Amino acid sequence: MGYWRWNKQSNDAEYRRETLDNCIFCKIVAGAIPSKKVFEDEDLIVFHDINPAAPMHLLMVPREHIATLADSDNRHQALLGKMLLIAPKLAKEHGGGYQNGADGPTGGFKTLINTGPDGGQEVYHLHLHLMGGPRPWRG
Ligand code: AMP
Ligand code: ZN
Repeated sequence: MGYWRWNKQSNDAEYRRETLDNCIFCKIVAGAIPSKKVFEDEDLIVFHDINPAAPMHLLMVPREHIATLADSDNRHQALLGKMLLIAPKLAKEHGGGYQNGADGPTGGFKTLINTGPDGGQEVYHLHLHLMGGPRPWRG
């Protein structure tokens, strides 16, 4: 597991090369490492976590290398909003849908972003965990 903490927020070629060489999620975004992808658009990709903590465990990963949530800024407002807004639909498609029916709420999912060592972050490329499915699970 990489502890890559490249914080320079620029788009120059050197920066892209550095992150591609050092960041496992940049490699997945670039297709250099395989992943079980379930969604992608111009801003982000979503794939199955390799070590799932729940029956459904997806990772939503921006294409841009942003090391942590604490490294995001106003430029990322729409991206961060999009990540939360597509979560319910993705959860529904992958067995973690939430319903609030006549008999009350059922199903559901957890959205989680770990930041820094005390936040339990292992991969220093911003990602949102989307976990769900029938309990019990450890997440
Ligand atoms: P975090 O602790 O929030 O940084 O989470 C990193 C997550 O990335 C963990 O849940 C790992 O299981 C997952 N992970 C690490 N490498 C891969 C990979 N190659 N493909 C899919 N998931 C991965
Ligand atoms: Zn990266």
